[in-house]
Formats: sequence, C-alpha cells, structure tokens
Amino acid sequence: MKYITKTFKFTGLALVIAASLTACNQEPKQQASVEKATKISAQAALTATDAQQFLDNVAKEMVTLNLEGSRAAWIYANFITEDTASLAAEADQKSTDAGVRYAMQAATFDDVDVNPTQRRQLNVLKQSLVMPAPQDPEKSAELATIGAKLGSIYGKGSYTTKAGEKLSLGDMTSKMANSRDYDELLEMWTGWREISPEMKPLYTRQAELANEGAKGLGYQDLGAMWRSNYDMPADDFAKELDRLWGQVKPLYDDLHCYVRTELGETYGTDKVAQDKPIPAHLLGNMWAQSWGNIYDLVAPQDADPGYDVTKQLAEHNYDEIKMVRGAEKFFTSLGFDALPETFYTRSLFTKPADRDVTCHASAWDLDAKDDIRIKMCIQKTGEEFNVIHHELGHNFYQRAYKDQPVYFQNSANDGFHEAIGDTIALSVTPKYLKEIGLIDTIPDESKDIGLLMKQALDKIAFIPFGLMVDQWRWKVYSGEIKPENYNTSWWELREKYQGVAAPIDRDVNAFDPGAKYHVPAGVPYSRYFLAHIQQFEFHRALCEISGNTDPIHRCSIYNSKEAGTALNTMLEMGSSQPWQQAYKVITGNEQMDATAILDYFAPLHVWLKNKNQGKQCGF
Ligand SMILES: [Zn+2]
Repeated sequence: MKYITKTFKFTGLALVIAASLTACNQEPKQQASVEKATKISAQAALTATDAQQFLDNVAKEMVTLNLEGSRAAWIYANFITEDTASLAAEADQKSTDAGVRYAMQAATFDDVDVNPTQRRQLNVLKQSLVMPAPQDPEKSAELATIGAKLGSIYGKGSYTTKAGEKLSLGDMTSKMANSRDYDELLEMWTGWREISPEMKPLYTRQAELANEGAKGLGYQDLGAMWRSNYDMPADDFAKELDRLWGQVKPLYDDLHCYVRTELGETYGTDKVAQDKPIPAHLLGNMWAQSWGNIYDLVAPQDADPGYDVTKQLAEHNYDEIKMVRGAEKFFTSLGFDALPETFYTRSLFTKPADRDVTCHASAWDLDAKDDIRIKMCIQKTGEEFNVIHHELGHNFYQRAYKDQPVYFQNSANDGFHEAIGDTIALSVTPKYLKEIGLIDTIPDESKDIGLLMKQALDKIAFIPFGLMVDQWRWKVYSGEIKPENYNTSWWELREKYQGVAAPIDRDVNAFDPGAKYHVPAGVPYSRYFLAHIQQFEFHRALCEISGNTDPIHRCSIYNSKEAGTALNTMLEMGSSQPWQQAYKVITGNEQMDATAILDYFAPLHVWLKNKNQGKQCGF
C-alpha cells in the first residue's frame, strides 16, 4: 500500500495522477533553469553560506509546492474527472520542474566545503529525480515524452481473450488469483505480456538518456545513483542485499519445494516438473511475486485457526469507522496521541455511490503538520482490518517527523515507510484480536502453521522477486545487459532467484519486464525488498522491548508503552540521520539482519522440512 508524503519523489504520485505523466516530465521552460544552474556553477568559489541560502530558499518553495500538489492530487483521487486530472497533472508538473532545477543547482555545490547537514540536504535534492534528464533541453524533452508513453502503454493495457472478451489488468489479476484452470491462467499470463513488446525501444532509449542525466549529476550510471541513496557506497549496498538474501534463501528453498509438490498434485507433474522451476502462471499472481492467493492449494491440514475475523467483525457490529477507531486504538495503546479530528472529517473510508474515486488504499500527509488522512474503500473484512493498521502506520510516521526540516520529512530510507506499516500489521495476532474482544479464545499452537503458511506465501515468496527486479535494472543501466538480451536476462534472474520460469518459450520480441508496473513507471524496487527484511527485525526488537515471552509470530506489541516509546523515537528522526542510526534505536544494530525472519517462521520451517523429506528440492 502506498503513502503520499512530502518528498521530492514525485514520480509515483505523477503516475497515480494520470497515466500520461511520469518522472521528469520537463517542458521547454526547463531551459531557463538549466542555464541558471550552469551560471551558478560557472561562478567560482561558492561557499557554505551560498549553500545555506540556496537550501533555505528551496525549503520555502517546497512547502508551498507540496501543499498545492497534495491538495490537487487528493481532489483528483477523490473526484476523478477530466478537469481534476488536468489540475493534478499541472501541479505535479510544477513540482517535477522544480525538482529538476533543484537537483542541478544542488550538484553545483558538490565540491563546496559544507557541513554534514547541508551535505545531506543537498543530496536529498540531487536524489530527488529517479529519472534524471540530461542537461540538453531536447534530450530532456525526449525523456519526458518517453516516460509519458511508457506510462500510458501500461495504463491503457488490456487483453482481448480468444473468446472475444476485453479484459483490464484488474480483471486479469482477479482471474490469476482465482482460476485453477491451467490453460486459462496461461492465456491470462501470455495475454498481459502482449502489451510490452512495443515498450522495448522506448525503454532502451530511456535508459540511455537517464544514464546521461545521472552522469551529469556525478554518478557512474542510473543504477549507481539509485544505490547511492542508502548512506553507504553504492557497491556495498548491492553486496548487502545479497548477504540478506543469503540468510533467507534456505527458508525460501523449502517453501518453494513444498509449493512445487502441491502444485504438481493439482496440475500434474507433467505440467509442474518436480526438478525444474515452477511455471510462473500458477502462483496466483500475474508476476508470481506473492503467492497468498493459492493458499487453498497448499493449506496445511488441520491448521484452520477456528475463527474468521470477517465474521467476528460483523458479529461485533464493526462498521468502517469502528474498524478505523479500532486500529487507532492500537497506536494510542502504544502511547501515541489520538488522531486529529480532521482525520475523521477529511479521510475517505467508503466507496462513494455517486462518483469515481481511486480505491487503492493510501495514507496521506497534506500539510506536514496535522492534516493526515487515509483514502480507502474499506471492505468489512479481516484482511482490510489489517490494511487499516498498516495505513495508519504511515500516518503516525508522517506525523512523528513533522518537526524535521522539510528535507528530512521522510522515512529513514525508502524501505522504512512500508516496513513500519507492515510491522504494525504483524502485531495483529490472535492474541491481539482476543485482547480487543474480537475473538474469544486464542487457537493453540498447532494451528499456527496455517497462519504462518499464509504469511510466508505473501512475504517470503516476495523476497527474491523484490531483489531481482533491480538486479536486472542495475545491469541494464551499467550496460552489462544489452538490449538484445533484455528478456533472456530477465528470465535468467527470475530462475536464479525465484525458481520460477516462463511457462512457454518467449518470443524474440518479448519484453516481459515491461509487464510489471514499476519498470515502465521507473520506480525503484529495492525498497520493497528492504521493507520485507526490516519489518520482521522491527517486530522482533519491539516484541523484546515490550517484554514478550511468546514465540515472535504470536507476539503483539499492543498496549506496550515501552515499545511505543522506542518506535516513536525512531519515527521522529525522519531521514535526518543516516538510516543506520534510526535502525539502531529499535534494533540495537546498525546493520540489517534477516535472522528475525527465520525466528518468526521457525515453526513453519520445521514443518516444511518435514514435508520435504525425501524430495528432490532445488531448481
Ligand atoms: Zn503501505
């Protein structure tokens, strides 16, 4: 689930606003800014005082731009019309233009002797564009056009079935989740990938141009620029991700092995060979990135927890507002202040009957003070109750860092925001549900395997996917993967990390990476990998701080003021310090550690090993 907050990362927002927009949509008026920036760099002897003046001016501009932009985006997402789309796009364009100007001007201070805070703020500006444009106005305009085209191809993508039915991605996503018909799944899978071959020449050119832009800002290539966003050398960051993956892999391998066996039983071992990667269309998701939708196919026997939160919510007369109030209470139980009244009057909780809105759940921070909101079309289900806890995690984070300078009103690194939402959701355990009176008894530990399996299908299955998307892009941007190998390299990485393979031979023109939103949209992906690692470590650490004595998958930090204080200390820091300092506040360590995942899933791992005995695992 996403969050909307005040940062310079306008890309994601732009794509939400209108499919025709994407990163760095510079108009010719950029030229003036570029010239201005060049002039500044031509003036010799810039000083720290100049830097401070520049940063102060930008901060003022940013506050105004952010507020205008968020308001326009909010109105658009809540009243989708041609007019609101165009107003939101205009506001976003203004912000993006400003972002380009700031980044280039910030780069002119690269060799100036400034203090660490100034350097950190200048770096925030330099990193503000995920697709930096070259300084040449023509190339900059070309990059903007390409971005818009890629976004539009994806946004308008659809597939007409052999039976003549036109399906949107939403329709196909739902079929991928629910169909158990091998051929129908294959048709959906290949059908959606027909949208992307035309992206390939655009994507190739975009990589060239953005690389040139990144070099202009002083980075080796765009991948190196993305990897420079983590308070450590770019190469160390890549190594760090590999190290973390190495910790999780044994658990993933056992999950993969077990799921492959079960799918073999469902579809036949002629279709799911037991010594090869799993065909990518059978895992309940268009990208095989999370597998929770096939829980019914792999559910452990006798592991039903014996209650259904959706039914319990109905029995206890929970409507949408009561669900939100319930989730808010989780945070106040930790010692956080209650949400402001405007949260309740300004948020969107239910799908309006009379107009189009964007229903995808999101958390907003309009003014960097107290005007925080969520926008959700809440369904009265157990899963959505969980999502509300997650979204409020974003809101409480946003409010916690509101007193930081505008530059640092962000999560400690880009994995933290999602990780915090999910950390809170990990505390929505049977124990918590009992404490708030939603269920009567906590199921005994023998039932935990079912809950853990569901979590593992969603979260453990995701981890190698979360890693490989940028592994591929980094290699594309560094030139290691050439355009003629784009698709084959994509599948080599998917097989290597996920043990998942294309179900049929891919056409020479295929461009399967383009069928995943974040590739044409130009949104970096490592943050999702990080969030999946960090959330378990936060959870384990906060449970320990709360004095928990249960296994950590059973722990909820509900009611723990100690855990709340530690959490708040970290959230308040925003991105003002290297993320390692924020990490240390909760975990006691400056380095990430994926062993928390192994602890959390320990009972499932034992169970999986047992089930996999005598099998040929691996891919
Ligand atoms: Zn989220």
